[in-house]
Amino acid sequence: MSSPLRTALTNGRIIDGTGAVFTGHLVIEGARILAVGEGEPPAHLTGDGARVEDLGGRTVLPGMIDCHVHLSMDALAAPSYAGGPRDMLGRLMVAAKNALASLHGGITTVRDCGTPGEVDFALREAAAAGLCITPRLILSGRALCMTGGHGWQLLGVEVDGPDEARKAARAQLKAGADNVKVIATGGILTQGTEIGSPQLTVAEMRAAADEAHNAGKIAAAHAHGAQGIKNAARAGVDSIEHAYFIDAEGIELMLEHGTTLVATSAAVRNVVHHGTAAGIPAHSVAKAQSAIDAHVSGFKAAHKAGVKMAMGTDSGVPFTRHGRNLDELGYLVEMGMTPMKAIQTATRDSARLLKLDDRIGTLEPGKLADLLVVEGDPLADITLLRDPEAIRRVVLDGRTVVDRDASRFLVGSAFGGEVVNRAASA
Ligand SMILES: [Zn+2]
Repeated sequence: MSSPLRTALTNGRIIDGTGAVFTGHLVIEGARILAVGEGEPPAHLTGDGARVEDLGGRTVLPGMIDCHVHLSMDALAAPSYAGGPRDMLGRLMVAAKNALASLHGGITTVRDCGTPGEVDFALREAAAAGLCITPRLILSGRALCMTGGHGWQLLGVEVDGPDEARKAARAQLKAGADNVKVIATGGILTQGTEIGSPQLTVAEMRAAADEAHNAGKIAAAHAHGAQGIKNAARAGVDSIEHAYFIDAEGIELMLEHGTTLVATSAAVRNVVHHGTAAGIPAHSVAKAQSAIDAHVSGFKAAHKAGVKMAMGTDSGVPFTRHGRNLDELGYLVEMGMTPMKAIQTATRDSARLLKLDDRIGTLEPGKLADLLVVEGDPLADITLLRDPEAIRRVVLDGRTVVDRDASRFLVGSAFGGEVVNRAASA
């Protein structure tokens, strides 16, 4: 049996996710990182037919993690709610397309935070069968909402009372969920819900979160209003999504419970920026406008207080496009994070939230080789990551899935599993 292929990347600016940056090497063997360090790789690692490549000073980063996307949603101005079997089949193709777009944008792991039907689970099965290629998938299935609560028309399963919440959480876990998503307040996109209104109760969310934790999984709560944020923190969820109207007490509760904030700044900014002129329903635009200032000041206060953060975009909501996920890093820096901290938020810290930090999130020996090769220095200008063309290469589990220099990318194994010409497949 031949030993796994070894590749030594040399002369890179390595931002390893631990907070360090240095000029050095990274050696990949099979799916894993074998060595990483300053200067040239040790000679014994570059013999024996290893492939050695000089990166010419390009930057190497851990693969980026987006903790909040909806792959089956296509960033349309006004999402439709057809919901029939034909709609679901179409959504599966949309999800496959968006998964590939995410990879091209430098995202090697996503947490999908809710989908109609079982589209996300079907996508995972399609990828396992070699029909498409996706980032590493952390899936939620449908979100748990109260009767008439945010998301009910599209991706919600309506529950009332802790017993129903517990049963619905178990059903999502049975179907394959890695994360249980609960709806703590109204939402921007659901007409008839006020974003400040509390929805699921503490007891309902606690029942769902307990089921997730009993199964070794995690739980996330959608929450905009201050009361819903507090309810979600008290219920013991792992992360609170959006948290646009967080107040001082909410920050205290998140610190006390160790809850992670996933800010999804892109989502609110894109709704406000594009507005009704682009076809976004007026009620959604009004709600986003009412939230954006509170979001910026609330985020700054939470960050200053030391609330744990992970990166999420809500890609799939109006004009928040899959593949443009790293726009979010620019917003995090704009709101006070250093570029290094923003990168760590999207790598190491997001891996911690998803309980994958023993495998991904930093470039360290023994971890899976999820990494990006980028033109330029994102520590000098974080916004260069907004341009997908700056992301020259994406490596997932040691396989090069995107190689812009060669104009090639990987397709599913059912199609040979090999890199093909990007132009020919576009
Ligand atoms: Zn969402």
